[in-house]
Amino acid sequence: MKTPMPMMQAKDIDDEGVWRKGEYEISLLGSKIPIPENVQDQKTQERGLFIVEAKDHFQFCPKCRASPVIGIVIVTESVQLFPAKCCDTMLWFKKGEIVNGLETE
Ligand SMILES: [Zn+2]
Repeated sequence: MKTPMPMMQAKDIDDEGVWRKGEYEISLLGSKIPIPENVQDQKTQERGLFIVEAKDHFQFCPKCRASPVIGIVIVTESVQLFPAKCCDTMLWFKKGEIVNGLETE
């Protein structure tokens, strides 16, 4: 048995959409990505379909307003994930609307 999967953090996701943490190395493209409860519709996880450049989506980071925006957006069937390295936040979008990640922890 492997150790329980740690929480995904934006800083551990590279520009190819590969998430690395400890013994884990998972390409989110083509893999099932766990979706937070308040973001998901019915599915608890969805496959990463493709990756786009974050700067094509945002003028600045929706959370910390850093500009220019660096990084990628991972697109699944119904949601989009922007791992914002500028503020190490996993920002989730549905139909272009931000649905999770803006609250401070
Ligand atoms: Zn940011």
